[in-house]
Amino acid sequence: MASKHTSFTPFRLISPGGSRGKLNIFIFHRILAEPDPVFPADADTGRFETFLRFARTWLNVLPLEEAAARLKAGTLPPAAASITFDDGYADNLTIAAPMLKRHELPATVFVATDFVDGGRMWNDWVVEGIRRTTLDEVDLRDLELPKVSVRTPEERRSVIETLLMRVKYLPFARRLSACEGIMRRCKVPTPPSLMLNRSQVVQLPRFGVSVGAHTHTHPILANEPGNYCREDIARSKLLLEDWLQAPVTTFAYPNGTPGTDYRHEHVEMVRELGFSCAVTTSVGYASRSSDVHQLPRFTPWGRSVSAVAVRLGRHLAAPPSTETVGVRP
Ligand SMILES: [Zn+2]
Repeated sequence: MASKHTSFTPFRLISPGGSRGKLNIFIFHRILAEPDPVFPADADTGRFETFLRFARTWLNVLPLEEAAARLKAGTLPPAAASITFDDGYADNLTIAAPMLKRHELPATVFVATDFVDGGRMWNDWVVEGIRRTTLDEVDLRDLELPKVSVRTPEERRSVIETLLMRVKYLPFARRLSACEGIMRRCKVPTPPSLMLNRSQVVQLPRFGVSVGAHTHTHPILANEPGNYCREDIARSKLLLEDWLQAPVTTFAYPNGTPGTDYRHEHVEMVRELGFSCAVTTSVGYASRSSDVHQLPRFTPWGRSVSAVAVRLGRHLAAPPSTETVGVRP
C-alpha cells in the first residue's frame, strides 16, 4: 500500500533508501474537523489533506512495522516515511482514517487503553475546561494555581499551556485530581469522551490503519515504579490483542522524551514484551544505526504542499537525531 513514485523527486537524493535509507515518522494526535481559534496551529482536515497530498506524491509511506524491519535490514525504499497518531482519539477513525484510505496511505494509531470506552486523557480535562468555559476568569487559587483571565482565544491558549506544564509532572493521582479540579472550576459540563471506544478501535484496520500500544494509563514511565510500568505496558498490549484478535507489535512511549519520560529500563521492557519497534517524541529521522525501539519522529507543517516539502527536505538534509537513552546492544 506504499505510495508510488511516478517521477524523480529531490527526496530520492536526500533520502536515498537501501543501507543509507532514512525513515521519517510523522506524529499526529487529533485531526480536528475545522480550525480551532484556541489552537490555530493544530491539525485540522484542511492541513491534514495538504499533508496527505504531499506524502502521497513525494514519499514512500510504509506501515510502521514494515518500515522498521526494512530500516534494520537496509532495504528501505527512497523517501521512506510512516504516519502515526498518539493516544487514540476518536477523530483518528471518524476523520483521519477515511482521508488516509482515500489517499491509499497506511498509518498506525497508538491507543492508551484505559481511556477507551468513555475515558479521558488528563490533559483534555484542562484543554476542554478552559476552551469551553463561558467565564472571563477562572479562579484556581485553592488548587495552588493562579486566578487566570480567559477572555480571548490567545489568553485561553496561553493559560492551557501554562496549566499543562504545571501539572504534567505531578504524581499520577495528584495530576488527575488537579485536572478534574480545573475542569470543575471552569463550570462546564463534562464533555463527551474524545477517545475511541472499543468498537471503533477494531474498525481501524479496515482503513489500512494498524493499532499500536501506548500503555494502559499513559503514565510518565520515568516517574513510576518498574513493576507498575511493566504491567501497564503489558496490559495495553494484551487488551488490544484481545479486542483486535491480532498481534500488537508497535509501541509509543507516553510523552516520549528520552531520559525525562522514559529510561533505558523501559526500552528493555518494551523489547522483552515482544514489541518489534517503538517510537519516541525525540525530533529526528531514523537511519540504519538507530535503535528500532527508540525511533524519533518529526512532522513538518505548512499551508501548501511545497511549504511542507521544503520543511521536510531541510529536516532530512540535516544530521540524524542521536537523542536516545542507554547504549544500543
Ligand atoms: Zn500520548
